[in-house]
Amino acid sequence: MSAEPISTAVDTHDEGNVQCWCCDISDAPERMVQLGNHPEVHLCLRCAHFVHQRAWEVEDEGTRGAGAFARGRLRNLRAEVMRRGWHQSRLIGGGLRWLGKYLP
Ligand SMILES: [Zn+2]
Repeated sequence: MSAEPISTAVDTHDEGNVQCWCCDISDAPERMVQLGNHPEVHLCLRCAHFVHQRAWEVEDEGTRGAGAFARGRLRNLRAEVMRRGWHQSRLIGGGLRWLGKYLP
């Protein structure tokens, strides 16, 4: 099996861009993540980060370790920040969004 991504006419759109299978955003193929066994599936970086975070959540369910506990607390903190809209604040929003990329 080849590891090279396969793009079909259905996947390729304007200027050679491909479409995210999750949110339908269009971007250059090199800015997308392809699934290993299904290279026809493209995910934008935002959706790929979301899937990664969801994988952590699923893995942490039912786990009692200190790491799982800390990640759960950080997820709750993130949800509260987003509920209050602080991530869109002119003053601290940029810093919070940057920090959110590096937290579980
Ligand atoms: Zn997407």
